[in-house]
Formats: sequence, C-alpha cells, structure tokens
Amino acid sequence: MERLQKVIAHAGLASRRKAEELILEGKVTVNGKVVRELGVKVSGNDRVEVAGVPVEKEEPVYFILYKPRGVISAAIDDKGRKTVTDFFPMIKERIYPVGRLDYDTSGILIMTNDGEFANLLMHPSSEVEKTYVAKVKGIPLRENLKALEKGIMLEDGKTAPAKVKFVSLDKKKQTSIIELTIHEGRNRQVRRMFEAIGHPVLKLKRETYAFLDLKGLKTGDARELSPHEVKQLR
Ligand code: URA
Repeated sequence: MERLQKVIAHAGLASRRKAEELILEGKVTVNGKVVRELGVKVSGNDRVEVAGVPVEKEEPVYFILYKPRGVISAAIDDKGRKTVTDFFPMIKERIYPVGRLDYDTSGILIMTNDGEFANLLMHPSSEVEKTYVAKVKGIPLRENLKALEKGIMLEDGKTAPAKVKFVSLDKKKQTSIIELTIHEGRNRQVRRMFEAIGHPVLKLKRETYAFLDLKGLKTGDARELSPHEVKQLR
C-alpha cells in the first residue's frame, strides 16, 4: 500500500506537492470515488484516475537540458510560450524540470518523470551545489563580494554562505563576470543577491548542478543521465 500522492508522483503526473493539490481540489478518484484526503493509501489493484485519466506507472527517465534563455521552466505555459518540455518531442513520458531557471536564465536543468527523485533534490536538506556565472552591472568591491560569501539579508531571510569568484571585468562597458556557488534554491535568488549589493544581473547562466556540467552540450541540447549519475545524485 502506498500513499495516493506518492502513486501519482511516481506515475510522472505531477510532483508530490502538486499531487496533493490535485487531491485537495477533488480531481483524483480511487475506484471511481473522489478522494479529497491526503492520508489515503492505495494498492496496485486500486484504479486511480487524475482528471479522468488513469494513472499508470511509467519507467523513470532522467535527462539534463542545456536550457536556452527565453524558455519557461514548466511542463506547460498558459501563455503558449516555449517550455523546457518542447526540447523532448521524442520522449513519451511526462517529464518536468527539477526546480526552475528563470525565463531569462540559461544553463543546466534536470528533467525527469520521477517525482520522488525531484522532491529529494529540491528539498532544502539536500544542499545540492549549483554554480552560476553572472554578468553584472558595474564592478563590485571586494567587500561586496565578501558580503555575498558570508550571507546577505534578502526579504525572505539571510542567505547561506556562498562561494564567490571574480572572473573578469570589462572596464569600457563597466560590467563584471562573477561565479557564484550556492546550495539554496530560492526564487530568483542569484538575481536578488546581486541586486542586494547594488550590481544587478545582466545575464545569468547555471554552469553546474552537483557534479554535473554542460560539457559537450550546446544550448537547447539534452542528454540522458547514466544510471550511475542518477545513483550519485540520490
Ligand atoms: N537564481 C536566479 O536568480 N535565477 C535563476 O534562474 C536561478 C537562480
């Protein structure tokens, strides 16, 4: 017996949290009856449907995508914009991104239909390190970068210590390239951190996610993760 939301997440229909929302919204039936409570357990013999669609277990699949800028990190977009799933026309499984990159951020993004795996990586306790390369306005002082390293106060609290590397500067254009490594994943965190030191981000790319990088990939390319890589991430 497994919890209903887990069964839905496992089937690749939604993340665990989204599955809970679907249940609370009355969109889920078990053997033809609407179930609105979150604690309900079901077995393989129970017929589960979400919005009238039977839940069947899919084989888990795992990819990394080199997300281009100008793409939404969601399975579908109500405004019809290009989304990260558009890069997988050949994949029949319903995959979705692990976390998000902003519309204007490019870089590495994991895509899967394994809700448990996605939840595990997104949980704050997993502390997955991600390295971003930011082009920022102006030339930050050393003390500004030290403040980022130590942790900086944002409206949703102080950030955890970060690793910061000054890469280069363009004196003429008055811009700098800075590498920032963090293990948190708050909304627009990197942009807000640079904003907080007075050097807004002009361009942002995520270069690494844990031990994974973009080597061999061009923007818009994807590759499957090896079973070994998946195991290492767990
Ligand atoms: N931080 C941001 O500000 N944007 C992203 O896309 C990812 C991290």
